[in-house]
Amino acid sequence: MRRMAGILLLAALAMALAFALARMQGSVTVEFAGWRVDTSAGGLVAAALAVAFVFVLADRIWRFLAGAPRRFTEWRRARRTRRGHAALARGLVAIAAGEAGEAQRQARLAARALDDAPVARLLAAQAAQLSGDAPAARRHLEAMRASPETEFAALRGLVAEAMRGGEDARALELTRRARELKPAAPWVTATLVDLETRAGDWAAAAETLARARRTKLLAPSLADANAAAVLHERARQLAREDLKRDAMAAAERAHRLAPDRPEITATLAGLYARDGRLRAAASLIEKEWSRRPHPDLAAAHRLARPAANPLDRFRQVERLARGAPDHRESHVALAEAALEAELWGEAKRHAEAAAAASGGEVSAALCRLFARIEQSRGDDPAAAATWLARAADAPADPAWTCRTCGQPHATWAALCRSCGAFDKLEWRPPARVVAAVAEIEGPNK
Ligand SMILES: [Zn+2]
Repeated sequence: MRRMAGILLLAALAMALAFALARMQGSVTVEFAGWRVDTSAGGLVAAALAVAFVFVLADRIWRFLAGAPRRFTEWRRARRTRRGHAALARGLVAIAAGEAGEAQRQARLAARALDDAPVARLLAAQAAQLSGDAPAARRHLEAMRASPETEFAALRGLVAEAMRGGEDARALELTRRARELKPAAPWVTATLVDLETRAGDWAAAAETLARARRTKLLAPSLADANAAAVLHERARQLAREDLKRDAMAAAERAHRLAPDRPEITATLAGLYARDGRLRAAASLIEKEWSRRPHPDLAAAHRLARPAANPLDRFRQVERLARGAPDHRESHVALAEAALEAELWGEAKRHAEAAAAASGGEVSAALCRLFARIEQSRGDDPAAAATWLARAADAPADPAWTCRTCGQPHATWAALCRSCGAFDKLEWRPPARVVAAVAEIEGPNK
């Protein structure tokens, strides 16, 4: 509408000008190199305007022609970029569809069209990973590290590659670099905890967890549970290095974070006892026994209340068991101590009470305990053999069992000795039945 008004205005001006020129008075004579031109004043003005118009037009045409090569180059570059972006999009679709060959082809096209731009490298690395070409993936990722905007993404890919290749030390180094770049990235924290615990670097893992809790990267309950396990291992490590004070400090921190874990209470009490703080050790164990009786506590109790002889030992265990007189573990501990003191009647009575406390179920360990009592008493050798035979088919006893792989452990550890999972051991019977049923049914379809 505006353009139309402009054209109409121009046309009106041109008409007015032509009319004014035609009405102009006077004449002009030009003599030049043997030529003579007679014209009116209006004709001269018109001629001057025509010459000016020709100059402007020639300038326009010259500029257009001079700019042509540059415009051609720009057009070609834009076309390449468009093709590169299209190849990137098709490559991403191929990766999502799991088509490794197509993804690699598109990655090559994108790299050529986009002059190996970091984003084309990323596609190439993912395509190489998809087709299982680890060296190529690593090459592309290393190239991406050179560019600040893709370094973090490259680190994540390189960490995954290193972990797949079993290079934990390299993975740890790369993850620490990633933490320098983006300390708040959740995968960085999770991977650091995983790698540091796997490497047995309990001090570093404790530091990582403390930082994750401060910055709310981990839920406080999970951070505390993990930190308790890490500090527990750290305490045991320091104790092995004979750094008693530091070991006790670490165990105390673990106990504060997880006061309901008997394995930590037992370790702390054991450290107190070895440091000569017998009363503190015994009070810790006896208090915990009244809440959660556990065999680990019974073992630590031997250190906390040293006995002069087996009978004295039995008296000490009686004192401990008073905290939870009807509990299975109290009866088992009493039966063991009575057997040691050769109080066979007492031993048998408590072993039977332990079975009754487990709902009448005589577990494998109880069968072996009955066998040892019979053996020690020596009245009925056949009875001992019968108990031992029965132990083979008896229900399994609780043990430190891995939640991930199901492997039972004799003693607690932060890492599963079978699958390496961190903080997955819990006190329960190993699920032999579950494993057997899974084997019969086979995998789904
Ligand atoms: Zn495991």
